[in-house]
Amino acid sequence: MHNPAQPDRPEWTIMKLIRWAANYFDSHDIDSSRATAEILLAHALNARRIDLYLHYDQPLNSDERDRFKALIKRRLNREPVAYIVGCKEFWSMELEVTTDVLIPRPETECLVERALERLGRESNSKSKSILELGTGSGAVILALASENSRHFYWGTDISVNAVLVARRNAIRHGIETRVYFIVADWLTAFRGQSGLFDLIISNPPYVRSGDLVKLQPEIQAHEPLSALDGAEDGLRCLRKIVQSAHLYLKPAGVLLLEMGADQKAQLKQMINKCGQYENIEFYKDYSGYDRIAAMTKRKNCCAAG
Ligand code: GLN
Repeated sequence: MHNPAQPDRPEWTIMKLIRWAANYFDSHDIDSSRATAEILLAHALNARRIDLYLHYDQPLNSDERDRFKALIKRRLNREPVAYIVGCKEFWSMELEVTTDVLIPRPETECLVERALERLGRESNSKSKSILELGTGSGAVILALASENSRHFYWGTDISVNAVLVARRNAIRHGIETRVYFIVADWLTAFRGQSGLFDLIISNPPYVRSGDLVKLQPEIQAHEPLSALDGAEDGLRCLRKIVQSAHLYLKPAGVLLLEMGADQKAQLKQMINKCGQYENIEFYKDYSGYDRIAAMTKRKNCCAAG
């Protein structure tokens, strides 16, 4: 933080600027106004949030104020804070995010929890193979890899730029030798092979195309719609995954999917119709919405085609 001997506008201390920005955000219907002001000011000053409190009466020079103002302008333009500062915390890991990837959502941590539960259910210590489809920032597969170094982890995404972000996140957390990322359309990279994975996990796009316009402006204008758009019925990607994942699962392998809160009945019907799974279970997220579907590859399930 710069502290010139003769600051221009010395009245603009850190604390005054935070209060001013928080009020400004409130008047423009930007949520979490105070936290947003603090996060953006800390980012503008290349400091930690706690440093703002340690230097609350320090005046800022015009360069510093200009940097802060530019960030405020971006937020008023409804750019999500995570894209402005370039990172988002997920599963206690700080992850890089760019507009090439969806910002990891808190409800997706439920998916990680369910996966860990399934992986830990068997007491034997055999290494397992785990695949995430549509990995984006790598949040889910990296969270899993951070919890258990015995297993082998793969993540695919159709977007090269997303895979580059995911790979940087693996490096950032020192687990790049245990997680392999592949640019591929769902399971196509494994075509012709069978019985590869103990667990396949995915948070695919599942918003109905017609509902995209109802999403917050932050999402609509800034997040990659290809990571959200589940086609007309919202189920296109879920259907594709359900219909093919069993081919690549080992016997009794598990498929875990995040889904929309109103998709349980349709998804259940689709899974039953597919006929390749048993022990179909649904779980709610922390807000009480149906959010996760889990199923096991049926015994005597057909071999890979
Ligand atoms: N939960 C996300 C949202 O509502 C949707 C994620 C997805 O389509 N996979 O923004």
